[in-house]
Amino acid sequence: MMVKILKKSFIVLILITTFMLIYSIFYPNIVIINSEAALGSKYVPEVKCYNLFSDLSNELVVVSDVNTDKVGVQLVKCKIKYLFYDINKTFRIKVIDDEKPIIILKGENPALVCPNNDYEEEGFTATDNYDGDITNKVTINKIENSIWYTVKDNSGNTSKIERKINFEDKEEPIITLKGSDSVTIYLGNLYKEDGFTASDNCDGDITNKVISTGNVDINKTGTYTLTYEVVDSSGNKSTVYRNVIVKNKPIYNGNGVIYLTFDDGPSYLTKEILDILDETNVKATFFVTSANEYTKRAYNNGHTIGLHTYTHNYSYVYANSENYFSDLNNISNNVYDVIGVRPKIIRFPGGSSNTVSRNYNSGIMSYLTKEVINRGYVYFDWNVDSNDAGSDIHNSNQIYYNVINNLSYSKANVVLMHDSSGHTATAIALRDIIKYGKTNGYTFKAINYDTPPIRHSVNN
Ligand code: ZN
Repeated sequence: MMVKILKKSFIVLILITTFMLIYSIFYPNIVIINSEAALGSKYVPEVKCYNLFSDLSNELVVVSDVNTDKVGVQLVKCKIKYLFYDINKTFRIKVIDDEKPIIILKGENPALVCPNNDYEEEGFTATDNYDGDITNKVTINKIENSIWYTVKDNSGNTSKIERKINFEDKEEPIITLKGSDSVTIYLGNLYKEDGFTASDNCDGDITNKVISTGNVDINKTGTYTLTYEVVDSSGNKSTVYRNVIVKNKPIYNGNGVIYLTFDDGPSYLTKEILDILDETNVKATFFVTSANEYTKRAYNNGHTIGLHTYTHNYSYVYANSENYFSDLNNISNNVYDVIGVRPKIIRFPGGSSNTVSRNYNSGIMSYLTKEVINRGYVYFDWNVDSNDAGSDIHNSNQIYYNVINNLSYSKANVVLMHDSSGHTATAIALRDIIKYGKTNGYTFKAINYDTPPIRHSVNN
């Protein structure tokens, strides 16, 4: 009995072993070659199937919907029916981000920093193809003369960049002259130095380090050059110059010269006035309140550009001398921007004899008329009034007669006219005034530093 059972068991064992052997010999093995996919790449699973005898890849059904737009694990499913096998196998595919984030530095690299100063961070940004803006994850390390910026994205990709710091000052200091860099004074008159400031990108205010050399002999005509020099603590040097021209006071003999002057422009009439002047080859003077292309044309064609005022607002400019000079500085800057020159010939709004300024500051004209000369300006009033800003504003005939009846061969005829809105009659009278002047032996000139300064008596 016992032997019988043993024998039976042995046969079963043999059968099982044989079956297992056959099963494993023909078993289709499924393997995947590419179980990782780069973010954003095109992914096609490479799956192979084989047993001991042959490649069964063609029998395999592979289902993949791996989406590489997202980091993480996704699945590829494979299926094969072969002989007595029915096998399903699932592979886990890792979609990975292997791209490094990008750090962008703001400011200069290498950065120039003043010796003994600390570098002041100019900023940076960090972006990652997958995580987006990761600027707040940037860590900063200072190692000797470099600053290192490091950032790691959520997938562990690290970027690191360096900003080099050069501790040196290569920039020259800047000397700014107060007043003009070209000053004209008459022989024997006082020369007053307007002063200067000097600043340096690293040292700050170094005005006290400026060395000025040169002398002005006010008793001898000529051009004197004053030199201003400053060196910063890193040895960068700057030099600027100021020319002081000492000239003879002009003597006027009365040779019948007409100086046409136009106040308050430029305006829509300026082009027409310039056309008439240029056509008749007459030079004139414009006391401007602003500057534009016609101001430039006038300057280029030999007319004189003088400063009138920037606001032409009596209550402002005559309230105090600070206002007046700030306004004068504004028109000077405006003109300089257009013609590249700072005129020193000026006319007070309302003339130096105006009484309107009494309403705002008693005595201001007495002060200003002296102070402008101290500051190197020459001011002009007029001695022939066309009355084109008065009752004759629209009467071109009367403007014409107001001018020609007051001309004289024995004086410098400085004629007041206006180049502003509403003065069409002035432009009309201009042609006839020029015609009269030319046929009666007058010559026309633009005002310059040799023109005797026709001035009213001051009333305030
Ligand atoms: Zn005016």
